[in-house]
Amino acid sequence: MRRLLIFALVAALFSPLSAQDSQDRAAEILKKIELTIQKESERSRAELLDLVRQELRGTKPVDPAQGKPEPKAVDPAPKVPALSTEKARAIVTIDLLKKHAGYLASDELEGRCAGYPGCDKAADYIAESFKKSGLKPAGDNGTYFQKFRLVGKDTKNVIGLIEGTDPTLKNEYVVVGAHYDHVGTADQRDFGRMGGKGDDTIWNGADDNGSGTTCVLALAQAFGEGGLSARRTVIFMCFSGEEAGLVGSRFYTRNPVGGSLDKTAFMLNLDMVGRNPNKPMEIHGVGSAENGVIRKAVERAVQASGLKAKLNDAVTLMGGDSDHSSFAEKRVPFTFFFSGFHPDYHRPSDHADRLAYDNMVKVALTSMDILLEMGNLEERPKFSGKAKPALTLPDLEPPAQTRVLGVTVQELDDADCNGLKLAADQGGLRVDAVRAGMAAQAAGVKVGDVVLSVAGVTLPRGGTRDELRKVLTEKVTPGKEVDIVVLRSGERVVLKGKWTE
Ligand SMILES: [Zn+2]
Repeated sequence: MRRLLIFALVAALFSPLSAQDSQDRAAEILKKIELTIQKESERSRAELLDLVRQELRGTKPVDPAQGKPEPKAVDPAPKVPALSTEKARAIVTIDLLKKHAGYLASDELEGRCAGYPGCDKAADYIAESFKKSGLKPAGDNGTYFQKFRLVGKDTKNVIGLIEGTDPTLKNEYVVVGAHYDHVGTADQRDFGRMGGKGDDTIWNGADDNGSGTTCVLALAQAFGEGGLSARRTVIFMCFSGEEAGLVGSRFYTRNPVGGSLDKTAFMLNLDMVGRNPNKPMEIHGVGSAENGVIRKAVERAVQASGLKAKLNDAVTLMGGDSDHSSFAEKRVPFTFFFSGFHPDYHRPSDHADRLAYDNMVKVALTSMDILLEMGNLEERPKFSGKAKPALTLPDLEPPAQTRVLGVTVQELDDADCNGLKLAADQGGLRVDAVRAGMAAQAAGVKVGDVVLSVAGVTLPRGGTRDELRKVLTEKVTPGKEVDIVVLRSGERVVLKGKWTE
């Protein structure tokens, strides 16, 4: 989970402490900051909720004078039988969750900061676990990894799937995701560390988001080893780069399994689900599909699992944001579980022994039933909002652009370009995977090619990916061939690309 900018600004207003401030004074100021953040959080939350409600529902905000309708609390006692099997449910035990979370939040993984070795170790562990569970790899070139660059370093999403059982519907996907990266150690790049004045220099991130990652691993195991499947294909996904600004999930939604996100019917996001067991779990976005189909599935699932929950139709950020937003802005119906902020949030003390494992078992069981119901729906759920929620963050790509090359690429940095002896203003995109049935494959683009120009437009250094997007949107006429120039084993090769729409 990543806090919105507003909190950074509020904190910055108060932050410079002069050297002579006594410890008491410092503590007092810190308290003030906490209070301000809390107040600001409540206020901005109310405003944000209304904005999003307005966007998603097309209605006017509720007049504060009339009071807001309280989110409906669902009775925690199990009332209906689960959709999943006894065998699958029996796999999700407290011990299993402790094992996963214990490792992910161990000092060995150094706080899993994207681009650093600890994060890569976590990715290996997740991939290994997916493999053991019997998931099919769904990353680049037959692996579980989908690589991307983040501020000059390599990092990766980890993706596996259980194929759907229906010959037609299996080409549609329901996704369960959680980010596995966190904010690292005191000497690493800072994507939002707080506190940390003592000798603990590792921000372990047990709740954020060892907890959601652990649930995804347990779900993969329950599906794979428990023999569960749905009519639609179920994709299990652990994102990197969330703390840096939802980078991994944004990369995924631009380079999804199946080539186009149109095939993704639903996304379930788990981010920080391991704390505050006495408060109801916040489940947001349940109104993001037409006809209340998500609400129905969620209500049913919590009634079967006994998870104490509070359902909210709107997208809400609660002063933070997470990977479901990357899907929501592309009109994918979603829901998001969040157990709330706590004093260890983004601090070194976010440790595995503070997680409420019994409640996390219920989170996993609830998710299992939601995935089964959404995966088996006869009708594909339809996003119920306008083009995208109001709460988009900066740095988003322009609205709806569906023309893609059909490749997974790495943007080359200056060193890479110089290594390839490219002209000073020539940038390039190295092709890491070619997706079946799309323009690049038809044109004969191969893995290892470096794309240099498309439709006569030379790709520049830095921002190469943006330029490609622009060219495909503005310069390509459906049905007309354009040149795609690639560098292949040192030779420039001109290929012919064509888009039908
Ligand atoms: Zn976070």
